[in-house]
Amino acid sequence: MLNIILFGPPGAGKGTQSAFLVQHYGLVHLSTGDIFRANIKGQTELGKLAQSYMDQGQLVPDDVTISMLESEVDNHPSAKGFIFDGFPRTTAQAHALDSFLDGRNTPVSCMLALDVVEEELKARLLSRAKTSGRPDDANPEVIQKRIDVYNAETAPVAGHYALQGKYTGVDGVGTIAEITERLRAAVPSE
Ligand code: AMP
Repeated sequence: MLNIILFGPPGAGKGTQSAFLVQHYGLVHLSTGDIFRANIKGQTELGKLAQSYMDQGQLVPDDVTISMLESEVDNHPSAKGFIFDGFPRTTAQAHALDSFLDGRNTPVSCMLALDVVEEELKARLLSRAKTSGRPDDANPEVIQKRIDVYNAETAPVAGHYALQGKYTGVDGVGTIAEITERLRAAVPSE
């Protein structure tokens, strides 16, 4: 099993690069943001709850997010591995993921962290808003909130995996192909 956490702030390119990793390594892509958006579209109870947080650039509570992620993993019993995109976003989520995967003898293989400076992130998100249709990309105040939440609550998750020797930082500025190549070089051989 190859379990990759693709990490980085909003706008770092996690979704774009996940597409390559999925294809190249035959992994299942689990994006908590995508799953929440599908639930909003389907007007489920989970979607209604998530939307109130997402619209403000806040994190959806850990208990809801963790149980959703765990059931998604369990929905793919024959997966060769997973790409976790946008999860874990808090140290509580990281601890939950570790114990959940350890219990299945398929621990996290590595965390690949895309590194992009804040001004570039803001420009990318505003540009993405033109095609993404995402309300949280179109509002500069919500973008700032998402970046602030990332710095306060999510950035410490990198330290959690660095302590386990699983963290690799990757320069997230360049062409899509250049960044893809940097990621490929950073994936541990099985
Ligand atoms: P993303 O698509 O990863 O940019 O996520 C969009 C929004 O979904 C975030 O701003 C949060 O409100 C919510 N979200 C996504 N993943 C998580 C997570 N792991 N924990 C809490 N909230 C999340």
